[in-house]
Amino acid sequence: EHGIDPRLLSNNAVRVVRILQNEGYDAFIVGGAVRDLLLGLKPKDFDVATNATPEQVKRLFKRAFLIGRRFQIVHVMFGQDLIEVTTFRGASDKPAIKDESGRLLRDNNFGTQSEDAARRDFTINAMYYNPANQVLLDYHGGIKDLRSKTLRVIGNPEQRYREDPVRMLRIVRFAAKLGFSIDKTTGAPIAALAPLMNNVPSARLFDEMLKLLMSGHSMSCLKELRARGLHQGLLPLLDVALEQPEAAHFIELSLEKTDQRIRQNKRISPGFLFATLLWTQVEEKWAEYRAKGEHPIPALVAASSDVLDVQTEKLAIQRRIATDMRDIWLLQPRLERRTGKSPYRLLENERFRAAYDFMLIRCEAGELEAELGQWWTEFIDASGDRRQEMIDTQMKRAPAGSQAKKRSRRSGHRHRKKSSAKTASETQDIIEKTE
Ligand code: ATP
Ligand code: MG
Repeated sequence: EHGIDPRLLSNNAVRVVRILQNEGYDAFIVGGAVRDLLLGLKPKDFDVATNATPEQVKRLFKRAFLIGRRFQIVHVMFGQDLIEVTTFRGASDKPAIKDESGRLLRDNNFGTQSEDAARRDFTINAMYYNPANQVLLDYHGGIKDLRSKTLRVIGNPEQRYREDPVRMLRIVRFAAKLGFSIDKTTGAPIAALAPLMNNVPSARLFDEMLKLLMSGHSMSCLKELRARGLHQGLLPLLDVALEQPEAAHFIELSLEKTDQRIRQNKRISPGFLFATLLWTQVEEKWAEYRAKGEHPIPALVAASSDVLDVQTEKLAIQRRIATDMRDIWLLQPRLERRTGKSPYRLLENERFRAAYDFMLIRCEAGELEAELGQWWTEFIDASGDRRQEMIDTQMKRAPAGSQAKKRSRRSGHRHRKKSSAKTASETQDIIEKTE
């Protein structure tokens, strides 16, 4: 009756369930995977729930790792493939450890399967599937809600958001991704409880935001976040950006591109994504620094740092990702230099591809001449002779201008060395690195 297509199952998830069941434990495929299977979608990951404790699970698999504090889970690895195994959570006899706003800090009380179902977030996420006999267990009317395309919190919505405010973000993501509507009672307390997001550790917020932006429906997610008052403080600079029509256009364009890539199963790097989201802010600050007489490159370096600093306070952007963002930004002016050896050197840069893709969005947004994008697109695949010809044409086109630029750059550099030597050497480091 449920119509789950066994061909969409992950062999590894089925294997984990079978091994647990052979040892006499209960085990099921659970959560988002069951939801997606029922919708006929291929799940992107598989979770398994069992009555075996994390230690008991770990012992049964060669490559199994205990993970997490708030929820202890086991990661079972098969090559690159990861199956998350969780032990049924219980309604505890000891009160769980919460902070003053009601947020659960630790929750490792094990329980029965029906207790486990009640602790899950939404009805459509609380179904269990046993691949051995193909039976589906639906504790909270998930099938009904799935058919009527409704997102409904299990239990008292306000209490569930207080326990874990991230559930409010999850609702928005699932609504946008699945095209479901949010049940009235479920949606009602969100606006008033939105400030609870401030209590969530910034690393967890970052993970959730990333999932949201990479859901393949990022623009509708952001719109829904804004409509429900949940966006404030998540991407502080984005709040401002979306108010300005020009910036909003650029952001919309880049999110559309991201969504397209995700839906075609292409890779998206988080650095690229956040670089586009915050670019208009960088540009604004860049212009400010230049207006104060700073040379373009150090001005861009300073603008990038300002933006990353403000952003990182709220939403911890991992250092690796921040580095990617900075590199993409700092390579932008270099893409406009099409003379001498510069284009060849840029091609060798390991971030060239990202910077080039980024520039194409700027061209499409009307920020740069379309011709620049076309030039690079041709240059990438051109033969050696043709490349040289293309560069020569550029040299002929604006020889005087580029000379003048060169001179002013030199004198600007000398001037700056006196006034802010540290910034200059930092800049040099970064330029060398990107070079
Ligand atoms: P997807 O993997 O497509 O993002 P998912 O529903 O599988 O969606 P996961 O984060 O993988 O999301 O979580 C697996 C399951 O764990 C969920 O389906 C839900 O039952 C439960 N769960 C996850 N996060 C929470 C939460 N914050 N509160 C309650 N239950 C949760
Ligand atoms: Mg999942």
